[in-house]
Amino acid sequence: MKPNHPPLLTTHEVFNQAPALVDYNLFARNPALQEAVSREGAGWAHDWLMQRGAELGSQEMLEWASQANQSPPTLRLFDNGGHRRDEVEFHPAYHRLMAYLKRHGASAGPWADPLAGAHVKRAAFYMLYGEIEAGTLCPTTMTYAVVPAISRDRTLADEWLPRIYSLDYDQRFLPAARKSGVTLGMGLTEKQGGSDVRANTTRAELVAGREYSIVGHKWFFSAPMCDAFLILAHSPGGLSCFFLPRWTPDGRLNDIRIQRLKDKLGDRSNAGSEVEFWGARAWLVGEEGRGVPTILEMGTYCRLDCALGTAGLVRQSVSQALHHARHRAAFGKLLIDQPLMKNVLADLAVESEAATALALRLARAFDAQSDEAESLLRRVLTPAAKYWICKRGPAVGAEAMEVLGGNGFIEDGVMARLYRQMPLNSIWEGSGNVMCLDVLRAMAKHPRCLEALAAEIAPALGRDRRFDAYTAKLKDGLAAAEHIESRARQLTQGIALAVQAALLLRFAPEPVAAAFCASRLDGTGYAGGSFGNLPGDSDFDAILKRAWTA
Ligand SMILES: Cc1cc2nc3c(=O)[nH]c(=O)nc-3n(C[C@H](O)[C@H](O)[C@H](O)COP(=O)(O)OP(=O)(O)OC[C@H]3O[C@@H](n4cnc5c(N)ncnc54)[C@H](O)[C@@H]3O)c2cc1C
Repeated sequence: MKPNHPPLLTTHEVFNQAPALVDYNLFARNPALQEAVSREGAGWAHDWLMQRGAELGSQEMLEWASQANQSPPTLRLFDNGGHRRDEVEFHPAYHRLMAYLKRHGASAGPWADPLAGAHVKRAAFYMLYGEIEAGTLCPTTMTYAVVPAISRDRTLADEWLPRIYSLDYDQRFLPAARKSGVTLGMGLTEKQGGSDVRANTTRAELVAGREYSIVGHKWFFSAPMCDAFLILAHSPGGLSCFFLPRWTPDGRLNDIRIQRLKDKLGDRSNAGSEVEFWGARAWLVGEEGRGVPTILEMGTYCRLDCALGTAGLVRQSVSQALHHARHRAAFGKLLIDQPLMKNVLADLAVESEAATALALRLARAFDAQSDEAESLLRRVLTPAAKYWICKRGPAVGAEAMEVLGGNGFIEDGVMARLYRQMPLNSIWEGSGNVMCLDVLRAMAKHPRCLEALAAEIAPALGRDRRFDAYTAKLKDGLAAAEHIESRARQLTQGIALAVQAALLLRFAPEPVAAAFCASRLDGTGYAGGSFGNLPGDSDFDAILKRAWTA
């Protein structure tokens, strides 16, 4: 007998889903970064960065990044016999990523091979890598940042710099003397205070020579599998900086007791820990009582990396959004062809280009160590750039996620991981307010910072009336003493925006610079507002073409 209903459907066709963004060259697709690299003095690294860009966009690299984050590190406190191990175990993908970073000089390249432009080359590589994985960058940054402080101590430098400069990543949990390469970390933050390190309670007691016994704790102690750390502790001469190896020179596990690993919002591939020191052996770095300036120098390099890392996260968020919008249709048209979505995407792309330009400009100031004007600029621009780029990160992440719709919120893709990572660089190594107060400190201690800033901005004057008006107002704001601490965010944001605008006006295509000035400088509803508020007559197509070069 014939059935009286239509035949049942037996197949389900999946369509209108964007493919994963994979197997593309991160550097080739990013002309803003390519141009910034050349402009800031590392054009010679173009081909090298092209190779890295292709590797980083490969399926294999993305899988490692995903595995390292899906299988976070675990703590192995004791061995079978009950002896303390205080060891952290990682997924093999984490080690592969660490080896990749070390092999390509992300942790010490500019120190080991100090060519002109070496910090800019590393900065571009760091930014590209930051698009793919963030947790492994934490020990990488700390290793890079520790070098200037260690270099000034002849004994430490002779023993440790060769292994810091080594391109080998040696994951074995052994005394450093038996390893081919090492990584380093830092410990400042305690339970009762992180920003105000003067509140530290950890104590150092002299053993002999420069050797001390440390008793106390650190509340945040990232990457505890590093081979050594710079820490702060109170010695009789005041707050001092100490070099704390994981193993003592006689081959014993140092008395650094890991209490537990942090359960973090993001940064999940990386181990964050709480530790106690039970008479751990450490060696004084610099003079007693001079711990804060010593460790702050390390902090300055970390802050550069915070700006670079977030510029990378921002770029990857924009890439994900652009890629999705080029493949997903709604209401009969691709998203990228919908006028309102074009505005959102173009606005995100402008933010990414501004972050890239500022981060790479800042990196150049780290290359020109002996140039006075660059040093002054570095002093004020490091906290300003860290503040503003990192402050914009979570907003970019949220908006880019929304471009992907519901898929953006799901852990199958990378957007959720990017978003969860975003707030960290803003908190770590000096939270927002602390960065703004540091800008004020820089201006008070080195008033000529403002001359360096003015010289950076001057070549762009006369190109856009909004820029001219904005910088004139900023100058007045910086000169006025009244309520300066309450206005510190306004001023810091102002400095970052002015330098970003100057760079875009001088070097970016006109539609990008015009959109930036119109939306960020003229005060019409942008500050704190949402993306997608560029003027309706902006050249969206030109901005989008620039952001996603095929
Ligand atoms: C994942 C992760 C990893 C970390 N890794 C490390 C590490 O390896 N080593 C390490 O030492 N630390 C590490 N930290 C700690 C981090 O550096 C601190 O959390 C940070 O410096 C802030 O210190 P706090 O948490 O004690 O906050 P607080 O110092 O209590 O600050 C709280 C808030 O108050 C603001 N504030 C502080 N002072 C002022 C002021 N005078 N005026 C206005 N506002 C102010 C701050 O900006 C912040 O927003 C890590 C943190 C995280 C989240």
